Amino acid sequence: MLKEILELPVEGQIFYAVLVFSWTVYVWEAYLAFRQRRVYRSTMHVPTELGKIMDSDTFAKSRLYQLDKSNFGFWSGLYSETEGTLILWLGGIPFLWRISGFVTARFGLGPEYEISQSLVFLLLATLFSALTGLPWSLYSTFVIEEKHGFNQQTLSFFLKDALKKFAVTQCILLPVTSLLLYIIKIGGDYFFIYAWLFTLIVSLVLVTIYADYIAPLFDKFTPLPEGDLKTDIENMAKSICFPLTKIYVVEGSKRSSHSNAYFYGFFKNKRIVLFDTLLEDFSPMNKKDEEHAAAGQTDENEAAGEERAKPQPKVGTNKKQGCSNHEVLAVLGHELGHWKLGHTVKNIVISQMNSFLCFFLFAALIGQKELFLAFGFHDSQPTLIGLMIIFQFIFSPYNELLSFCLTVLSRRFEFQADAFARDMGRSAELHSALIKLNKDNLGFPVADWLFSTWHYSHPPLLERLRALKGPKQD
Ligand SMILES: [Zn+2]
Repeated sequence: MLKEILELPVEGQIFYAVLVFSWTVYVWEAYLAFRQRRVYRSTMHVPTELGKIMDSDTFAKSRLYQLDKSNFGFWSGLYSETEGTLILWLGGIPFLWRISGFVTARFGLGPEYEISQSLVFLLLATLFSALTGLPWSLYSTFVIEEKHGFNQQTLSFFLKDALKKFAVTQCILLPVTSLLLYIIKIGGDYFFIYAWLFTLIVSLVLVTIYADYIAPLFDKFTPLPEGDLKTDIENMAKSICFPLTKIYVVEGSKRSSHSNAYFYGFFKNKRIVLFDTLLEDFSPMNKKDEEHAAAGQTDENEAAGEERAKPQPKVGTNKKQGCSNHEVLAVLGHELGHWKLGHTVKNIVISQMNSFLCFFLFAALIGQKELFLAFGFHDSQPTLIGLMIIFQFIFSPYNELLSFCLTVLSRRFEFQADAFARDMGRSAELHSALIKLNKDNLGFPVADWLFSTWHYSHPPLLERLRALKGPKQD
């Protein structure tokens, strides 16, 4: 077999190399997931080390949740790997390119209108992947997340959301791609510099408008009301010179009861966003009993005819969700640590250097006809297809390596941000907040070392708690 492949022309070798590499990564990931599932299966009881921070009920729940998610990941991963291979094997990409050519021809545009044909191709390709991905995300949301009490969406909310997401993506993707293709066409010898600059500008613009114009299309953002929490956050921001302009609470509970916090914005205009599920006083989970009492009351949004998610969680038990104000401040101390320590800027610099390097290599490779031949393009070399082949397939070993390095770096940053919050004197609160968040999100506290080394962008809970040198638990 190997001998036969080596005797193939270059394009044949490229094709097999891409397939073999893709399956190698798949097998590696499947092996890691298998190791992690073995940990879920064999760890039946809370390890003694965790006895004080995790009750056996939560432990059992998180174990089953993670096991379900991992099994789901196995099947969805196998499916998408097989789908990808079949598409390459059966010539799906050149086939879709020809279809796009027929469509543009119907509008009277010949093959010289490459950008138009590229846009039709992109629209059809994203439509295909949205449709084939839909059953999987439906299953994940309405079977797995639902079963474990996280899902807060109704089916019609989910479908409308998916449609909206598709439409918004197209509104950004299509014009940006056509401009990029145009720049590559007319850019001359140094087109890769212009192409890189263009993507840099696009990403800066997107970051700027995302929060004000895109995110609100999907979720409700309300300013954090005046009160102790707001004053405390403002004081903390001031103490480290964080240029905070606004604090929002986002209604994350409309989708899922997972919780989070983040900040965004440029230079002197930073905003903090807190998930309502992070805040003890805001989380609808905690209002369940009150809502039961006021059964007759109509939901404001429902009355206004607005499509809404389920008004209350299915699995409530009597656990209280979210963190106290002091714990929220500790979590924010960690987040602001990322800013103060320059993690955000470092990540942007790394990603831009990477993007420049990729465009530079792309410029060196795009002239190679063998790359197009390898994927079934015998008589044309469309730029969009070149971008796809080179960025997605040819760079894939490099992409894997880069993403591993970034994961390792991210864990370092997490430790540093934890240490930052500790140095602000918030060690005890961060300690308890991390435990609560782990509990609310049903995180499993034990991990296979190889799996977590490869995948975890955040260090395992126990390592973080140890590094925090939190208060003695006994
Ligand atoms: Zn962090």
